Amino acid sequence: MSANATYDVIVIGGGLAGLTATIELARAGYKTLLIEKKQYPYHKVCGEYISNEVLPYLRSLGFDPFAHGAAAIKRLRISTPMGKNIRTALDMGGFGISRYTIDNELYQRALALGAEVRTNTRVSDIAFSGEQFTVTTSSDTYSGKLVIGSYGKRDTLDKKLHRDFIQQHTGYTGVKYHIEIDYPEDEIGLDNFRDGYCGISRVEGNRYNLCYLSYRAPKEQHSSIPELEEKVLFKNPVLKDIFRRANFLWEAPLAITQISFAPKTVVDNHILMCGDAAGLITPLCGNGMSMAIGAAKLLTDLIKESDILRHTTIPPRERAQLEAAYLRLWSKQFKTRLYWGRTIQRFFGNPALTSLFLNTVHAIPPLERKLIGLTHGEVL
Ligand SMILES: Cc1cc2nc3c(=O)[nH]c(=O)nc-3n(C[C@H](O)[C@H](O)[C@H](O)COP(=O)(O)OP(=O)(O)OC[C@H]3O[C@@H](n4cnc5c(N)ncnc54)[C@H](O)[C@@H]3O)c2cc1C
Repeated sequence: MSANATYDVIVIGGGLAGLTATIELARAGYKTLLIEKKQYPYHKVCGEYISNEVLPYLRSLGFDPFAHGAAAIKRLRISTPMGKNIRTALDMGGFGISRYTIDNELYQRALALGAEVRTNTRVSDIAFSGEQFTVTTSSDTYSGKLVIGSYGKRDTLDKKLHRDFIQQHTGYTGVKYHIEIDYPEDEIGLDNFRDGYCGISRVEGNRYNLCYLSYRAPKEQHSSIPELEEKVLFKNPVLKDIFRRANFLWEAPLAITQISFAPKTVVDNHILMCGDAAGLITPLCGNGMSMAIGAAKLLTDLIKESDILRHTTIPPRERAQLEAAYLRLWSKQFKTRLYWGRTIQRFFGNPALTSLFLNTVHAIPPLERKLIGLTHGEVL
């Protein structure tokens, strides 16, 4: 193991939260290290629809999604598990771009701004002692005054930190494909099935993202993804038709399991959690990515405003103030959205309840707008 290098901030995990934080800190002149376990560019399970909340902010970071082929999305179509379509306009709207492209472009931006990035490198341990962090990978250890935990939904680091949510079996599986299909470019579809839903929306390069979330109790697990699709998803005729017409561009889908929507700690052992590591909103709200970007902006604004990194060793009182301010502002900005995301998701799953819920909400347009609004924020 090689000798310690020392940083102002070490960012663990380079998804949208970690990359945004790294760009902000690097352009403010802080000595910043980002450690990412994978090599860019790479695909990730995600619906790839991004709410317009973050469009002006992304442009201010130097990334314009439309210069990379993003599709503007203005309409929402939802089908009930029985296959009845309901359509509505999306007031704020959004755009579709693959994680393969957006994460890689932001990574290039972070490098151009002088951030140090280690890719293909997994963090195996984070220790805090004497007001310094020691971050360990398989080959090196690094010291940092602050650590941002932006390593996503779930990692062995959560076990080491004894975080509560990691103990629970969740039963949620996420599956993603890229497909070619004849489908409206400006519409996102959300097709419901028993215990799950599937999104379809356009991304760059004349392709569409097809991504679903499915819940299964342990005794009900299906032996394979094709079996799950055949026996459960295709009960919705709209979804069956989409799968039948799609030209699948990958040999096999990407899949992840054990997705947890349980509340999480926002500051844990002095690590400032950001993005999904602080809390994952249910995908049907379609704004986990804008929340990850928004949380990174919130946190790095606080770090800059507090000027805490002027110290060689951060005084415990100032660290406590920063942590308390982050927790307070994070909760104000995101806690209610996560709550509403979990609450609305409870109505999805049981086919009869989902249909009743969707038909009722759609019959009352102000309620429909309110529910969409409750899970979204203001433009950053
Ligand atoms: C099925 C599904 C569909 C979704 N669809 C949408 C959607 O359409 N729109 C939307 O806005 N949101 C959607 N989301 C949510 C969205 O994907 C997340 O909220 C978003 O990716 C969070 O970004 P993040 O940076 O926090 O985490 P991530 O993007 O997951 O990034 C975490 C990074 O940390 C790295 N990492 C993990 N452990 C380590 C380690 N030990 N050391 C180093 N690196 C590590 C990972 O490789 C990864 O790159 C969906 C989620 C799911 C599950």
